[in-house]
Amino acid sequence: MNRTPHPAETDITRRSAAWRSDDERWEAVTRRDPLADGAFFYGVKTTGVFCRPSCASREPRRENVAFFADAAAARAASFRDCKRCQPGGLPRELDIVNRACAALDADPQQRLTFAQLSEAVHVSPFHLQRLFKRVVGVSPRQYQAARRRVARCAQERRGRHARHAGRRL
Ligand SMILES: [Zn+2]
Repeated sequence: MNRTPHPAETDITRRSAAWRSDDERWEAVTRRDPLADGAFFYGVKTTGVFCRPSCASREPRRENVAFFADAAAARAASFRDCKRCQPGGLPRELDIVNRACAALDADPQQRLTFAQLSEAVHVSPFHLQRLFKRVVGVSPRQYQAARRRVARCAQERRGRHARHAGRRL
């Protein structure tokens, strides 16, 4: 899990400044940028369907695309949820982070490597690292370390308790 930060990894600043204009949004759609998921949605006028930026469906023509801040706005404009990317569901990135946390939580011995973790949630290590940090606020390794400290404290408490109980006998 040791790696030097990638120069592009200035997530927060990049994200807060990103996707303000339709040109930037369109650019994210053409790249199917998963980091833009949740930031906005796009509707395709010819199909009447709206999608997440990362949707794998065929790229629409620019002139047929309208952008929306959220799913409710897209539906209000009579667009239907895309069956493929399910824009009304839990954002895909939150789902990924949820599954990563569950995998870390289910591994009290901390044997899971970062490579195994990224494999378990089907996301590249680079993408997982920045996604996790952005959503949770700490890296997967820091999360793991914090879990370990909690487990150790609980163990020490149990140990003290057992010693006290022993003295009383
Ligand atoms: Zn879609």
